[in-house]
Amino acid sequence: MVKTKLYRCRDCSVKKDGSAIFQYVDGNNISITKNSPQLCYDCYVKKYGKDK
Ligand SMILES: [Zn+2]
Repeated sequence: MVKTKLYRCRDCSVKKDGSAIFQYVDGNNISITKNSPQLCYDCYVKKYGKDK
């Protein structure tokens, strides 16, 4: 049995595997990425208004 690590969306608390969790990425400032919340796709689009 394969264990998949699940992440919880910070907004809606749904649990998804890593491939379905997104974090805002700023190529110029890694610290922003580290502090950004983990969000499911729907919440990510809602929060940032665009696809990754
Ligand atoms: Zn969500």
